[in-house]
Amino acid sequence: MKSKDLKKIASDKKILLGQVLKKNEKIKRSVKKAAGDLTLVNKVLKQDKVTVEVMEQALTQNKDVEHKVTKAAEDLRIVNVKLANEMAERMVIESELVVTKTDLAEVREDLSKAEVDVEIAQQLALQDVLTALPNRASFEQGLEHGLTQAKRHGWRLAVLFIDIDKFKTINDSYGHSMGDQALLTVANRLKSFVRGGDMVSRWGGDEFVCLLLEIKQDADVTRLAEKLVNRIAEPCEFDGTVLSITSSIGIAMYPEDGETADILFKNADTAMYKAKGTENRVVLFRTIPH
Ligand code: GH3
Ligand code: MG
Repeated sequence: MKSKDLKKIASDKKILLGQVLKKNEKIKRSVKKAAGDLTLVNKVLKQDKVTVEVMEQALTQNKDVEHKVTKAAEDLRIVNVKLANEMAERMVIESELVVTKTDLAEVREDLSKAEVDVEIAQQLALQDVLTALPNRASFEQGLEHGLTQAKRHGWRLAVLFIDIDKFKTINDSYGHSMGDQALLTVANRLKSFVRGGDMVSRWGGDEFVCLLLEIKQDADVTRLAEKLVNRIAEPCEFDGTVLSITSSIGIAMYPEDGETADILFKNADTAMYKAKGTENRVVLFRTIPH
C-alpha cells in the first residue's frame, strides 16, 4: 500500500477513535447519573415513615435505574470492544507505515547508488582500460571542443600522433604482459608533459595522441615532441629486463595543416609514418615534400 493511502487511513482511524472515546464518555456520564438516582431511591427507602405508594414508586424507580445501568454496561462493553479493535487496527497501520517508510528509504538509496553507477560507467566509457588515459572517444570530444575554442579566439592548436617503433618485437620477445608494462610506462611519461587544457590519450594499440592548445610558434611544438621522444626512449626496467622504447611522432596543426578533426588526424598520421621511415623521429605535416 502507498504511504499516502496509509496516512489517509491512519487519519480516518484517528477521527473514528475520537468518536468512540466520546461515546465512552457519554456512557460513563449516564452510569454516574444512574448511580445518583439509585442513592436517592435508597434514601427514600431508609426513611421511617414510608407509605406503601412511596415504597412502590421507589421500587419502580429502582428497577428503571437497574435497567439503565444494565443497558449502560452493555453499551460500554460494545464500545470497549470497538475501541480495542480500532486500537489494534491502528497499531497494524502504524507498523505498515514504518515498513513503507523503510522501503522508501531503501528505494531512495538504490536510486542514488544507480546514479553513481551510471556516473562511473560514463567515466569508464571515456577511459582506456590499461592506462586509464582518456580513450579515442574522449580525445575526439576534446579535439572538437579545442577546435571550437581555437576558431572563436583565433588560436592555433596541434595534434601529435605518437606510435611506438617495432612494438610487436617487445610483445614477441618478452611477452604480452611486458608489452602492457611498456605501454603503461609510455602513458605515464607522456602524461607528465601535458599541461593545463592540453590532453594526452591512448588512441589504441601502441598509438597515442596529444592535443596542444594555444600554440604560438611551430618550434615550440616540435621541441616538445622531441622531448617526448627522448623521454620515452629513456631506459626502463621490468623484472630485471631493461628496455629502450623508441617512438615516432607526426604533427598536424590547425589551421595550417587542416581545419577539421578528421583532416588533422589523417595528416598527423601521415606525418608519423614519414617520421618512421627516416632518421628524424618528429615530422611536421606541412614540411613533407609533396
Ligand atoms: P611499427 O614500428 O611499424 O610501429 O611496428 P610495430 O611492431 O609497432 O607495429 P604496430 O604498431 O602495427 O603494432 C602494434 C602492436 O601492438 C600489435 C599488437 O599486437 C600490439 N598491441 C595492441 N594493443 C596491445 C595491448 O594492449 N597490449 C600489448 N601488450 N600489445 C598490444
Ligand atoms: Mg608501432
